[in-house]
Amino acid sequence: MATLYLVATPIGNLNDFSPRAAEVLKSVDQIACEDTRTSGVLLQHYQINKPTFSFHQHNEHQKVGHIVNLLNSGLNIALISDAGMPGISDPGFLAARAAHQNGHTVSAIPGPDALTTALAACGLPCDRFVFEGFLPPKKGRQTRIRAIADSDITSVVYESPHKLLRFLKQLHEFAGDERWVCVARELTKKFEEIDRGQLGELCKRWSERDSVKGEIVVVISGNGYSE
Ligand code: SAM
Repeated sequence: MATLYLVATPIGNLNDFSPRAAEVLKSVDQIACEDTRTSGVLLQHYQINKPTFSFHQHNEHQKVGHIVNLLNSGLNIALISDAGMPGISDPGFLAARAAHQNGHTVSAIPGPDALTTALAACGLPCDRFVFEGFLPPKKGRQTRIRAIADSDITSVVYESPHKLLRFLKQLHEFAGDERWVCVARELTKKFEEIDRGQLGELCKRWSERDSVKGEIVVVISGNGYSE
């Protein structure tokens, strides 16, 4: 029996990498990386010299067997994504499931993720929430946005910068001016921005920007929330 570690890595600030995460990456036999070049920067910074191989959304179905073979031969493997927690809008679930199914130990090494970092900072209720991840670009998008607008509890969406305004406007159609929303941009980075307000004014503010850049999480309060 071997161990598959799912190791969280920084979402923008290298100092958020935990000593334990470094220790685990130094202890394993091989590291599966979403992108070996991206992870190379982190691994080099922490002087972690272990063999790496790629494991990303386009090859994970095929490469999961490779991970199981390595575990079956007694090797301990770590899985890291480009940023944050593996499995959270990133590869991870298939590998963890396969490791469990083959009788191996699965251990997650906690650390940064954009979801809980945005939730902690947004000042909206986070005792209960639904994580929507990335919304589909076309088919089913309206239905999901309507469900977010109707939800009684807080929702969290990962959105790309060039689709943010479109998302806010679409949400506005169903949720109206008063809904409380927080746009968390570039979390943990130099230009971190937490823009919180009611949807009508937020749509106006973000429409006035020349361009939107960076990585974004949107937190939407539940229907019925007021302050
Ligand atoms: N596994 C990651 C996690 O644990 O949060 C998520 C990876 S997903 C491919 C990338 C998305 O996460 C970005 O498009 C953005 O929505 C969000 N994200 C990642 N880093 C972020 C940051 N520093 N600030 C805001 N959002 C971020």
